[in-house]
Amino acid sequence: MAKPKVAFYWCASCGGCEEAVVDLNEDLLKVADAVDIVLWPVALDFKKKDVESLGDGEIAVSFINGAVRTKEQEEMVKLLRVKSGLVVAFGACAHLGGIPGLGNFWTRDEIFDRIYKEVPSVENPEGITPREKTTVDVGELTLPEFYDTVKTLDQIIPVDYYLPGCAPPPDLIMNAINAILKGELPEKGAVLAPKKALCDTCSRNETKPEKISIKEIKRPWEIKIDPEKCFLEQGLICLGPATRSGCGETCIKANMPCRGCFGPVDGVIDQGAKGLSMIVSILGLEDEEKMAEENVEKLINGLVDPAGTFYRFSLPASILRRKRMEVK
Ligand code: SF4
Ligand code: SF4
Repeated sequence: MAKPKVAFYWCASCGGCEEAVVDLNEDLLKVADAVDIVLWPVALDFKKKDVESLGDGEIAVSFINGAVRTKEQEEMVKLLRVKSGLVVAFGACAHLGGIPGLGNFWTRDEIFDRIYKEVPSVENPEGITPREKTTVDVGELTLPEFYDTVKTLDQIIPVDYYLPGCAPPPDLIMNAINAILKGELPEKGAVLAPKKALCDTCSRNETKPEKISIKEIKRPWEIKIDPEKCFLEQGLICLGPATRSGCGETCIKANMPCRGCFGPVDGVIDQGAKGLSMIVSILGLEDEEKMAEENVEKLINGLVDPAGTFYRFSLPASILRRKRMEVK
C-alpha cells in the first residue's frame, strides 16, 4: 500500500522548528518508514515544480512552520493548501506569528532602514536596500516582495490543526504524527496540546500563594531567583497563568519565567491582553498610601517593554495585529 505523502515547509522562522523534527532522534526513522516525504527544503532537494506536479489533495499532511512575511511564502503555502488533505501550523510562528511577528511594531521601510543603513556594523554608503528586481550583466535577479505585515498561517490559508511551541516538543510532534497516521484526530481547528494552563502543571504551583501582590516588578538578572518558588511571588513576570501547557515546563525548569510560546488556552482570543490583565490584577496597589501617583508610576515603570513581554509570540494573532500604519 502506498505510504501517505507528507510535506514539511518553512516560512518566516529561525529554523528551530526544523531542529525540532530532527530532535525526534530515532523516532525520525519510524516516521521516515511510515510516510513518503515529498517536500522538506531544509533537508532534501525538492523543488516547487515537484509539488506542482502532485494532484490536488495528494499530500496527506503538510507541516508548515514560520509566519508569512514574503510573497514567495504566501504562494508556497497557498500551493501546499491545494495539494494537501491536512495542513498543520507547526510551531509558534505559524500558529501566532511568533518572534518574527514582533516586526509588526515597525513598517518594512523602518526595518530595511535599520538593518541595511543604521546598524553600526553596516557599511552601505549608497544606502542600498533589497529590491524585487535588479539588472546585472547576465540578466535580471529577483527577490520576493517583503510585506509590511507579518501574518499567521491561518490569516493566509485555512489551517486544520495547530502544534504550538517555540519549538513544539518531540512528544507532541510524535503524538500528532501518530494521531494523523491512525486517523484519530480531534475536531478541526484544535490545538494539538493539553487544554490546561501552564500553572496547572507547573512544579512551582504549590508555592503560588492564594493571593499574590507584587510590590515591585523585577527582571530575571536583577535578583537571585529561588529555583523552587513561583516567579510571580518573586516579583518576576511569568505568563504561566495565561499560557497553554504541554511544553514540559522547559523554561521553568531552567529557572526562567514563561514567556508564552504555547499561546493562549482555548477560548482566549488575545493572549497578550489576558497576560496583561492578569499581571495588573496582582500589582500590589491596594494600600491607599501607596496609591500616590509616583508610586504607581514607579511600579508600572518596572515593567520594561510591556508590548514585547505580553505579545512576544502572538502580536500578529492579537486583536490589534500590528502597530497602526500611517495612511499615505
Ligand atoms: S506563575 Fe509561572 S512559576 Fe508560578 S505557578 Fe504559574 S507557571 Fe509556575
Ligand atoms: S515555559 Fe512558556 S515560554 Fe517556555 S517553552 Fe513553556 S510555554 Fe514556551
